[in-house]
Amino acid sequence: MDFALTESQEVIKKEVGALARTFSLDYWLEKDDRAEYPSDFVKAFADNGWLGITIPEEYGGAGLGVTEAALMLHEICASGAGTSGCSPIHFYVFPPTPLVKYGTEAMKRKYLPGIVSGETVMAFGVTEPNAGTDTSRITTRAEKKGDRWVVNGRKVWTTNAQHANRILLLARTSDRDPAKPLKGMTLFFADFDREAITVRLIHKLGRAAVDSNEIFIDNLEIPEEDVVGTVGEGFYHLLDSLNPERIVIGIEAVGIGRAALDRAVQYAKERVVFDRPIGKNQAIAHPLAHAMAQLDAAEMMCLKAAWLFEDPSLQDRAGVTADGPQLPRRTRARPAALVLALRGFAMDLMLSTHDTGYERPDEPTIAKVLASLDGGRNVLATLGTSDASYIQASGSVQAGFGLDLQEGSIERRFRTRDRALPLAWVTEAFQRYARADLGWRDQVEWEQERIVVPRDSWTNSWAAYIALMVAVAGAIWLWHTWRAAP
Ligand SMILES: Cc1cc2nc3c(=O)[nH]c(=O)nc-3n(C[C@H](O)[C@H](O)[C@H](O)COP(=O)(O)OP(=O)(O)OC[C@H]3O[C@@H](n4cnc5c(N)ncnc54)[C@H](O)[C@@H]3O)c2cc1C
Repeated sequence: MDFALTESQEVIKKEVGALARTFSLDYWLEKDDRAEYPSDFVKAFADNGWLGITIPEEYGGAGLGVTEAALMLHEICASGAGTSGCSPIHFYVFPPTPLVKYGTEAMKRKYLPGIVSGETVMAFGVTEPNAGTDTSRITTRAEKKGDRWVVNGRKVWTTNAQHANRILLLARTSDRDPAKPLKGMTLFFADFDREAITVRLIHKLGRAAVDSNEIFIDNLEIPEEDVVGTVGEGFYHLLDSLNPERIVIGIEAVGIGRAALDRAVQYAKERVVFDRPIGKNQAIAHPLAHAMAQLDAAEMMCLKAAWLFEDPSLQDRAGVTADGPQLPRRTRARPAALVLALRGFAMDLMLSTHDTGYERPDEPTIAKVLASLDGGRNVLATLGTSDASYIQASGSVQAGFGLDLQEGSIERRFRTRDRALPLAWVTEAFQRYARADLGWRDQVEWEQERIVVPRDSWTNSWAAYIALMVAVAGAIWLWHTWRAAP
């Protein structure tokens, strides 16, 4: 068994890491603050040939596999670029896969070189307001009219739609058959015709540098030659892009964790309290070591998932059976790989901004901390303004965030310290972030955790005292009245 990377994989890690680190943390802060697409970052990656990492060499790419793409995206995230850096590059790697695998030769010659050079900016239109995980529920419809398809419908969460010039679009070309719900959808690689597509930006906190949008498609005409693969089989073609993408998203989360851990370790070494660096204390050192072990384990799981995915013995295809067309055998083999990648996802990430330069975290800072962690499903973030005032936010990106006080009383933490953050304000910032970035959460009932100093019972209140006095006076009056009665 050999866990070593090949020489060329080591080179990829080194070169991508070096290139990504030429873009500082301040660069990402600024891009996120201004919600500005990182065009110069993408251009640097295009100029150095990285955008075409998985595109075959005959179309100008490097023809490498998922493992190499995973290593590249890990290094981008580990540089501190977070989701703002990996999303744009990621978009050149996975959405084009169905084109590479199922596109016609003419289509590949026409479009793939532009993707490699970065001239073609792609959007990916699958999710709809009522069809996320259950893709079979999409209602965007393509009707054949002569030699063209005419598309009408609506998509949501469409990344890059502000400046895309092509879109990989999934539309229904026949009604949903409950017996075969995933059939009857077709993939198109269409011109992003802004006469027929209206784009509405989704405002969000986090990954603000990369736009998310709703798009409204009104009679978009697509020529027959822009159909990708077989009509009615679009969902199956899409899986070739979605499955490896899951592996890569897992390792992106690991990269973000590495960046967080690096900063934490650096701070633990620099911060001196009671004449020694705080990292000498076990309560600081052990969680850092634990985080490193988890990151290493998660990285190994992701790379194993990539290796399983690329194993040639899994690559033959199943044919048509009595139950209808089967998923390719490779697809059926993937859940194991997928689970491994998701385990990578699920690791806890910890980032302490406590006295690490975020002296007074404001709302954008909090959002940024979360944005930099949003590749991880479970998040534990500590935010603070001084050693006497800090709060912990923990929870899951999917389920929302809860806030905990780590120690001490609310009185001390939130009322007597003028530099402290008001709890309600921070809670709201987190909730707004979670709501804005995760559209499906409309159904979630947001429960604001009631973290307040317990109030005295009502019997201790002035109202209770007065009520008691009135009751006693009433009783005396009644007694006198009763005595005086003849
Ligand atoms: C920042 C961002 C960028 C995105 N970019 C794009 C893009 O460019 N193009 C695009 O097409 N889409 C994009 N998406 C959409 C993304 O692919 C969807 O959010 C995703 O497919 C999930 O769909 P949903 O949000 O509607 O979740 P839902 O389908 O509503 O699911 C909600 C939750 O319930 C869980 N769930 C549902 N059913 C089950 C079940 N049977 N068993 C267990 N759990 C279940 C899901 O796993 C999920 O956690 C983006 C999303 C985000 C947040």
